[in-house]
Amino acid sequence: MDQDCIFCKIASGQIPSLKIFENDHILAFIDIGPVSDGHTLVIPKQHYGTLDQMTPEIMAEIAKVLPMLAASIQKAMKSEGYNVLCNNGSAAGQIVEHIHFHIIPRNANDGIFKKWPSFQYPDGKAEQIAAKIRENLSL
Ligand code: AMP
Ligand code: ZN
Repeated sequence: MDQDCIFCKIASGQIPSLKIFENDHILAFIDIGPVSDGHTLVIPKQHYGTLDQMTPEIMAEIAKVLPMLAASIQKAMKSEGYNVLCNNGSAAGQIVEHIHFHIIPRNANDGIFKKWPSFQYPDGKAEQIAAKIRENLSL
């Protein structure tokens, strides 16, 4: 437990939350600053900062419940779809430094994330980048 971490305090019950699911390893609760109705956060109870710091074992615990939670939220909210989002690092928009997966119910034309800001690689650049990432795989 990280004494300064708000999600550790939620996991231990020191700070209240609107829980929707919990088991020994995982907690899911309602986001207090939602971007759509039913916006839910799924966290490991144990403190991990970012995705790359998680162990395969705890990631497996997330994987065991994430599909069920997404299906349940979608059914409850009658949403047409949902985003699963995980911000890692402040540069990527992570504010709470305890890993969490957002489940965000979505409907067509809800205007929440208007456009994926995609671009095209110039010739050869994608191949260079792919090679660089392969070189850095920590298998
Ligand atoms: P992120 O930008 O990915 O770190 O998102 C942090 C999320 O945590 C935001 O969507 C906040 O609304 C949410 N949040 C912060 N404090 C609480 C809290 N006490 N209970 C529920 N959600 C929270
Ligand atoms: Zn924490």
